[in-house]
Amino acid sequence: MPFSVEREESLTLFRSMDTKKLVIIGSGPAGYTAAIYAARANLNPLLFEGFMSGPSGGQLMTTTEVENYPGFPTGVLGPELMGFFKAQAERFNTAILTEDVESVDLSKRPFTVRGASTQVLAESIIIATGATAKRLDIEGAGDGELWQKGVSACAVCDGAAPIFRNRPLFVIGGGDSAVEEAIFLTKYASRVYLVHRRDQLRASKIMADRALNHPKIEVLWNSAIDKVSGDQIVRKVLLKDLKSGKIIEMDAGGLFFAIGHQPNTGFLKGQLKTNEVGYIVVEPGSTRTSCEGVFAAGDVQDPTYRQAVTAAGSGCMAALDAERWLTEMGIE
Ligand code: NAP
Repeated sequence: MPFSVEREESLTLFRSMDTKKLVIIGSGPAGYTAAIYAARANLNPLLFEGFMSGPSGGQLMTTTEVENYPGFPTGVLGPELMGFFKAQAERFNTAILTEDVESVDLSKRPFTVRGASTQVLAESIIIATGATAKRLDIEGAGDGELWQKGVSACAVCDGAAPIFRNRPLFVIGGGDSAVEEAIFLTKYASRVYLVHRRDQLRASKIMADRALNHPKIEVLWNSAIDKVSGDQIVRKVLLKDLKSGKIIEMDAGGLFFAIGHQPNTGFLKGQLKTNEVGYIVVEPGSTRTSCEGVFAAGDVQDPTYRQAVTAAGSGCMAALDAERWLTEMGIE
């Protein structure tokens, strides 16, 4: 029987449990795909789907229409797609814990995985914790200042709030995310300014053209936001021309960071090899990490493609790699 375990019940249910063959950490396309494959291979995986660290389901939970996931010719909403992933993982024998993993001990096998209220032993682990939107250290935009009072790193999550209605909104970044967020915000804003530090967008041509041709979007080239100010909410920004150094004040109702992501590897505390910006390093063509028995899938190990479909593909690879490794180790 498939089952899902709520946070409150988890402690009693899992404290006395035997060592798990496979623990999966993360609930985006990579984690759920790994769970589907592992469950069908009778590995009875236990999946930590997260709790305070962000919505279970990962970054697609804060996306609207997904137009490029194969199999959905007319598109699918991100949360709806993740609902399908989760239902498919549960259909087999995946146990899901609504809990964050706070630390792991990879120094000896079985490994120890410590959640907020649950500790389990695991013969193998798949890490699929994804990545988190980056923020900039701008005066007025920090915690305790205007962060979450008009400053956000997710237009799709926050953009519909009343404070943004019919106000000029600023999006920082020049990639696909920035363009997507700017287009999304046109539904609410009086005008959307895309603030980019260079004179050319990084976004794909089709996305860039949509922004450049949108009547409500203006790209502010070679620009940066120097300061955000307001009272209870954002009211003004200082915009800096990076070529001339000139600074002007502009009315603003909101500021959105769309400058890329940071892989979620803090709980590993340096126990796995990562690259210079924190992505887990895997052996080329596999999901094997620097620690035998630990595999990584999805955005946490992918600084390049970062797509739902590539994350799902690597989740499949991780489950197959884990299954083969367990077999080689004689753990049936
Ligand atoms: P990205 O492609 O890495 O772009 C980040 C943008 O932020 C770049 O324009 C970068 O400027 C700017 N930036 C980075 N650090 C900055 C800083 N300190 N100050 C000011 N600007 C800064 O990230 P992304 O847009 O999140 O996209 C990530 C991946 O997801 C990409 O592969 C993208 O194609 C994909 N994606 C696809 C879709 C879609 O197809 N619908 C939607 C979203 C994302 P520079 O250009 O100067 O480096």
